[in-house]
Amino acid sequence: MMATNAMSPGTPKSKRPKCVKDLGFDTTTCNGQNAFEPPSDIEIEAKTSTPTEFKFTQEPTLEQIRVMQNNFSKERDFDKFHSPRNLLLAMVGEVGEVAELFQWKGEVKDGLPDWTEKEKENLSQELSDVLIYLVRLSEKCHIDLPSATVEKIGLNHKKYPADKVHGSCKKYNEYD
Ligand SMILES: [Mg+2]
Repeated sequence: MMATNAMSPGTPKSKRPKCVKDLGFDTTTCNGQNAFEPPSDIEIEAKTSTPTEFKFTQEPTLEQIRVMQNNFSKERDFDKFHSPRNLLLAMVGEVGEVAELFQWKGEVKDGLPDWTEKEKENLSQELSDVLIYLVRLSEKCHIDLPSATVEKIGLNHKKYPADKVHGSCKKYNEYD
């Protein structure tokens, strides 16, 4: 788990973490194992940041989303339906609903300037459905998704060294 208060909305920019190691990861899992060494050199501060550049709000964290959805499910006695397989199929269904919104539109521009507000709202809801099921599936499979994602980004850094792959879309096994 990570020290999430390091990224609370009121934290001055100068005190915000610049890379993963500044987040103060505790790499001990709930089993007491040290399953994961987070790469310490992965930057989390934007390389270029302009006032108009899009970014997410800092909360809720994935852990907070997990808790919210866990509570929602328990209050409705939905937990009995949430086997990993069922959740996977539900998530794939939601991915299909996202795809349906893009269907027949051809390429679309960043920020979706040609979409109506209603279309953007629909996309916002369907992407959220995907995330909710992804978080729930990860919970049910006991995958610590934030830590696993950092670890995977670390692996991607090794697979795709920036100085070697810059500007290329080749797969990692197609480089010399
Ligand atoms: Mg949906």
